[in-house]
Formats: sequence, structure tokens, C-alpha cells
Amino acid sequence: MNAGTPGSADAVSRDAASCVFCAQEGGTVWWRDAWLRVIEAGEPDYPGFCRLVWNAHVTEFSDLSNDEREHLIRALAAVERALRATFNPDKINIASLGNLVAHQHWHVIPRFADDPHFPAPVWAARRREPSARQHAARVAAAAGVGAAVRDALQREFG
Ligand SMILES: [Zn+2]
Repeated sequence: MNAGTPGSADAVSRDAASCVFCAQEGGTVWWRDAWLRVIEAGEPDYPGFCRLVWNAHVTEFSDLSNDEREHLIRALAAVERALRATFNPDKINIASLGNLVAHQHWHVIPRFADDPHFPAPVWAARRREPSARQHAARVAAAAGVGAAVRDALQREFG
């Protein structure tokens, strides 16, 4: 699967013209504010998989100011709450890799014991096919996840 970082180059694109997250949103936008956006990842194996993308070029977590970092953490927690309420997953995974883009971003992924890679990361070797019935139920639940994420962030930031 290609659940990882967009772009196919093996070096970070640091100028906006060639940067995939400057050129496009990266997916359907569920929330956007001055600092960050939350986008639907569009990973067929993982309904509700979303990415929180820092809007500006910030490569490392420690480059964020304290205010920015607080905003980010609150946004991540709000997204996690929305995914938990929507899917009741066995686990939420939050991952930040960002080896190929100059934007700090976080993958927020509802995980289930019967999903294709559990308990390994979603980028690991595939272990199983999920049950069609379970997967269909999660796809159905995902229809409301964008609104749930938006509501959670609106509540968080008022
Ligand atoms: Zn960029």
C-alpha cells in the first residue's frame, strides 16, 4: 500500500513550487485554520485514516514555537477523539515521519485487531484480508467522520 508520505522523490522538496503539500491540499480537507489542516487520507484499507498537515514549511517538531506546538497537540487530540467516537477502534495510531516533505504532518489512523496489518504499522507487510462485513461497517461509519472531525476541532478551538 501507499499509505505513506506523498511524492516519489527520495529528497525533501523544500521549495514551494515543487512541494506536493504547497501545490495541493493532499486530499479532501475536513478542517483548516491558519496553522494546519486535516485531510482525508483516502486509504481504501483504512476508512477514517486522516493526516494533519502543518501549512507552512516546518521540518522538525522542535522547530514549532510553543504556541504552535500547543495548537498542534490540541488539534491531534481533537482528531483522535473524533475517530474514537466514530469507529470505536482497538487503537489509534499517530505517526509522524515526514521524510519526503518539508511539512510536519501526522498520520492519525483508526486500527482494528483484524485490519490488514495489525499489530504492525500500516506500512508493514500485509498480514491478512479484513472481513468484508467488518470493512463495510467501517466504510459506512466513515461517511460521518469528516463532520465529526470538524465538530471536534470547532469545540476545541471555539
Ligand atoms: Zn510545501
